Amino acid sequence: MRTITVLGATGSIGQNTIDVISRHPNEFRVFAITGHSKLDALVKLAVQCSARYVVLSDPDTYQDFKSLMQAANCHSEILVGAQALDDVCSAPEVDTVMSAIVGAAGLLPTLSAVRAGKRVLLANKESLVMSGQLFMNAVREHKAELLPIDSEHNAIFQCLPRDFEYGNLEKSGITKILLTGSGGPFRSLPESSFDSITPDQACAHPNWTMGRKISVDSASMMNKGLEFIEAKWLFGLHENDIEVVLHPQSTIHSMVQYIDGSVIAQLGNPDMRTPISYGLSYPQRISSGVEALDFPSLADFTFSKPSKSRYPNLYLAIEACKQGQSATTAINAANEVAVDAFLNGRIKFTDIANINEQVLQKSDSIELTSIAQVLEHDEQARSLAKTILRKLN
Ligand code: NDP
Ligand code: MG
Repeated sequence: MRTITVLGATGSIGQNTIDVISRHPNEFRVFAITGHSKLDALVKLAVQCSARYVVLSDPDTYQDFKSLMQAANCHSEILVGAQALDDVCSAPEVDTVMSAIVGAAGLLPTLSAVRAGKRVLLANKESLVMSGQLFMNAVREHKAELLPIDSEHNAIFQCLPRDFEYGNLEKSGITKILLTGSGGPFRSLPESSFDSITPDQACAHPNWTMGRKISVDSASMMNKGLEFIEAKWLFGLHENDIEVVLHPQSTIHSMVQYIDGSVIAQLGNPDMRTPISYGLSYPQRISSGVEALDFPSLADFTFSKPSKSRYPNLYLAIEACKQGQSATTAINAANEVAVDAFLNGRIKFTDIANINEQVLQKSDSIELTSIAQVLEHDEQARSLAKTILRKLN
């Protein structure tokens, strides 16, 4: 029986995690779930999975939430605030933590789980983008077990040999990591109409159902850029080891190319319950509720290279990756500010890349040797992005 904390339980990954867990009541029990603003959904989840603790990251919502819990006759204990988030990740009863808070807010609780030596199921790519080396050092130091949930990284993990040594591609005869991406909803929209893209259009991904922030990132392919950085840290890669390939059908989730000409790919329907269940049960496999692929119905299977003019954010993120940790922290922070402004109707879709590019150019390139420095650098990049944003309005 594994005991699990689900960070960001009210989100898309969080709800899929509870769905998989609910299918295996004899194998998993929920210790704690956390949520931020969706109080009704959090109550429902607490009832569904009989969580021992429910954590509200925003203490101001406590009274409203308490009334909703009483009305639902739900007896899970309510905890609030940042310390509670850390506590439910590091509690001795917990062996697995699903890290599925969106954005930089996920960094500190995820690190708590790492420092407590837990199995960490990493969906929150932003924490690795912000603090890559420091994060991986903590994983090693505290003997945490880090398993990727992002579908591409989970696919790569499945395609690597079991004895893969971190960063040692040569030893395993690996020549390339092929990171696939669908290209999002605007893969064939004329670039001249990008200025009039609305938030709802950007969030309507053709293959995946996801939270709004990652949906916009997928439309701009910043998501693939963040995943490029994530792959570097997860597997110890050099930038030249990774190639991004457009695959609009989202059937192949990523591939590993070997020296003998073999390419090993992981395929499946685009449903996050596959990587989630693999992380939960690794190294075994359990049912996830995902339908098997029906090969005869797969009409197209195509591949191409993502264009620079269509997807500037992808190339900015790769450039940041080459520059180093302070650049990836800065572009991640800028992107969070820009995407939020886009979702709130304050800027155009094309302004996201403008803001990211300017912050990347203007922020200092410094060595970040502690998490406190990472957070300070993140904060500076956010203020810079907000200043640029004000000038645009
Ligand atoms: P959602 O927006 O659907 O969910 C985000 C979760 O984070 C919610 O539970 C939300 O609470 C919580 N949250 C938001 N802001 C805060 C905050 N300031 N403090 C604490 N909690 C907060 O996102 P997704 O589930 O789509 O994505 C989650 C993470 O997983 C992201 O990092 C994303 O990049 C990654 N990921 C997602 C994939 C997907 O298919 N969705 C695929 C691969 C990676 P509430 O809703 O109650 O406000
Ligand atoms: Mg992904």
